[in-house]
Amino acid sequence: MRIGIIGAGQLGQMLALAGYPLGLDFEFVDASTDTPAGRVAPVLTGDINDPALLRRLARRSDVVSFDWENVAVSALARATRGRHVFPPLRALAAAQDRLAEKRTFERLGIATTRFAAIETRTQLERATARVGLPGVLKTRRLGYDGKGQYLLRSAHDIDGAWATLGGTALLYEEFVPFDYEVSIIGARARDGTVAIYPLNRNYHSGGILRLTLAPWPQPRVARAAAASLRRLLQALHYVGVLTLELFVHRGRLLANEMAPRVHNSGHWTIEGAVTSQFENHLRAICGLPLGATTARGHAAMINLIGSLPPAATLLAEPGLHWHDYGKQPRPGRKLGHCTLIESSAQRRTARARKLLTKLCPQLSLRP
Ligand code: AMP
Repeated sequence: MRIGIIGAGQLGQMLALAGYPLGLDFEFVDASTDTPAGRVAPVLTGDINDPALLRRLARRSDVVSFDWENVAVSALARATRGRHVFPPLRALAAAQDRLAEKRTFERLGIATTRFAAIETRTQLERATARVGLPGVLKTRRLGYDGKGQYLLRSAHDIDGAWATLGGTALLYEEFVPFDYEVSIIGARARDGTVAIYPLNRNYHSGGILRLTLAPWPQPRVARAAAASLRRLLQALHYVGVLTLELFVHRGRLLANEMAPRVHNSGHWTIEGAVTSQFENHLRAICGLPLGATTARGHAAMINLIGSLPPAATLLAEPGLHWHDYGKQPRPGRKLGHCTLIESSAQRRTARARKLLTKLCPQLSLRP
């Protein structure tokens, strides 16, 4: 079976690496000629919204999927008519637009941040009064890793926020002084079977994920997050892996956003779960049975951002798994990650913090 994937980043690379043992073949499309997935599979290079290029990929593939959710839904729908595209395009459309995403959460009774859609400066002024301050102004589309966001602490920040982001479709939402952030990842198969991974606790810095600890031992939070994810998977007639990111605030869960794909906070599943998120995504979209999502131990995943430490520094750590995506170093760029698995949550957390301090001494994460 041949899988066509739009976007040839590290998620695509890890999908291909998980798929080869299943006997799958891969082909990607990407704008760049130098991509992580290009190191392991052929890439058709060109504009990923070009209908002719998407049609070429679709014709050569049994199933089409994506590792990047910002492909134009209309172009993809036309190029893949009558073919298998998973996750479904309605889920892709809902996840691409922060307003559609919030409305999906509301419709399904999934608690989320208070928000308002913004197109004019007057609407922003009204929203700061109605939704409240502090708040975060976000572009509705194309934001990732904290990009396209402006924090408004007081009404004095309206000018700066509007000068920075005004002119595009925006969403204003309350700033949540959360206790911590979590994500929950699950897969739904073509026959409707659902498998959900243990809860991830995520630590961000500058809007970018730095550290994930999983399973995070908060059974009540894990159950509530899994129930919301299950509702989304079913309502969207989802096929593939879906990720839901949430804030935990005074014991209450608030959905922040969803990603219709495998997710950075699930990288630990490669070595830390019976079946990785990448393999389960492929199993789901190919119509195969899902694998067990049980953790094999207590995992920590550290993102390697901007520059990579010497291989010897990491590989000298007993039991550490290193992933180098083969990307050119650039500030703020995710170049790789490493995962360690320990026999208890306490040992895992202590070791992860020590390693993080060694790798990024200037970084300070909340306790
Ligand atoms: P996002 O791209 O929306 O996931 O935002 C990236 C990160 O910014 C989140 O993981 C949070 O750490 C932070 N953030 C985003 N929205 C809010 C909010 N409404 N309140 C507090 N922090 C936020």
